[in-house]
Amino acid sequence: MTKLKAIVSLKCPACWEGSLFVKGNNPFSFYFDMHQKCPHCGENLMREPGFYYGSMFISYIMTGFFSLAVVGGLILGFGVDWRWAMFVLAIILIVLYAFIYKISRSLWIHFFVSKK
Ligand SMILES: [Zn+2]
Repeated sequence: MTKLKAIVSLKCPACWEGSLFVKGNNPFSFYFDMHQKCPHCGENLMREPGFYYGSMFISYIMTGFFSLAVVGGLILGFGVDWRWAMFVLAIILIVLYAFIYKISRSLWIHFFVSKK
């Protein structure tokens, strides 16, 4: 397993085995509870109060560039009306909401903790 795969499959940054989220690793499920400690190696996943506040910025940046690409692609590439482009974007973002939330948190903790 690579670091990228550990991030995308929402695994613990220290062992790449235990899952970050309590209910499995379905990145699209709307169940957001995280483990306090890694169920496999015991790594502290709640490093300090408000630790995941920073993952909000990752989510914001990812969503921003993604939105630009989708709306820009639809308008410039396919000649879609801007209202339809925004509607399509809204639908895509609702579907990807849980995925973006979880990937951001996974990326954030993988920034600060490396494999042991
Ligand atoms: Zn672990």
